[in-house]
Amino acid sequence: MPDRLGLYPGTFDPITRGHLDIIQRATRVVDRLVVAVAVSDGKEPLFGLEERVRMVKDEVASLGADRAARIEVRSFSSLLVHFARDVGAGIIVRGLRAVSDFEYEFQMTGMNQRMTSEIETVFLMASERYQFISSRFVKEICRLDGDISQFVSPAVEKRVKARYAKG
Ligand code: ADP
Repeated sequence: MPDRLGLYPGTFDPITRGHLDIIQRATRVVDRLVVAVAVSDGKEPLFGLEERVRMVKDEVASLGADRAARIEVRSFSSLLVHFARDVGAGIIVRGLRAVSDFEYEFQMTGMNQRMTSEIETVFLMASERYQFISSRFVKEICRLDGDISQFVSPAVEKRVKARYAKG
């Protein structure tokens, strides 16, 4: 049987412990995982694409050599279903937090299904410890001088802090 390849797309601005939990769960479902960092210009990310990719790579490396060997981190700027087709992924992985995520994910999956019938979207739930974490609030809390250490890794925390210290 060929390897089952999954694609986990997101903005990862920055990557949180919630994202990392989903990445770990995804590696139990697929043989190989491509974590795809979206350019997401429309969202005006705090971190540039390269830095977001760097952070995701560092976090993936922290999962240990065995797991990291099955994970590839890439950036993309094309339509998600085109990128999935280009890398040969048959599964798109998304994380589901609360009801608030549902509508957006429902629409995106529905439209992707219309565009291609070859890809299935699979939703994974993070552990309850991490479910409520969002990159948006991590940035907001840090910007207002709050403690984000339980939401992101020490390395990411350092980068977010540095970003706001400059401003
Ligand atoms: P996007 O811009 O595509 O929403 P994000 O980086 O915000 O990118 O999120 C990528 C994916 O990870 C989305 O499916 C999102 O719902 C999921 N996700 C983010 N944070 C969490 C979390 N704490 N628990 C579960 N899923 C999460």
